[in-house]
Amino acid sequence: MSLVVVGAAVVRDGRLLAAQRAEPPELRGGWEFPGGKVDPGESDREALIRECREELGVLVTLGAQVGGDWPLSGAYVLRVWIAEIASGEPEAKEHLELRWLAPDELFQVPWLPADLPIVRAVADFLAASSPG
Ligand code: C5P
Repeated sequence: MSLVVVGAAVVRDGRLLAAQRAEPPELRGGWEFPGGKVDPGESDREALIRECREELGVLVTLGAQVGGDWPLSGAYVLRVWIAEIASGEPEAKEHLELRWLAPDELFQVPWLPADLPIVRAVADFLAASSPG
């Protein structure tokens, strides 16, 4: 069983896609980077592309990794990549809701504790790549 969870920081027009978890009950309502566990035999990037297809219904292109191994509960680590949508429009197939957060809205949703420091890193990325 794999101990790596992968997440996508999907960005478009300077906004970050946030996804609200439906389950399990203790995480319901929290916001996260879409993604999930890496399956045996799968690379991290393959897993992330699969998860974005399953959870959002989109094909993504992966860019830079955001940091390295971010701690999760237990022995799990979370690895996050910047992602852009190559085709499709995101739909909440497994989440309660999706939101495109502008830079000044990034901290207006209750992120899962594990994801919050990563949002700060993504905010720095968005600031560095914004025009002007
Ligand atoms: O999505 P999935 O249930 O496969 O994720 C496994 C675990 O990883 C979750 O129970 C959650 O605790 C954690 N996770 C997280 N942030 C994410 C994705 C998953 O904290 N963006």
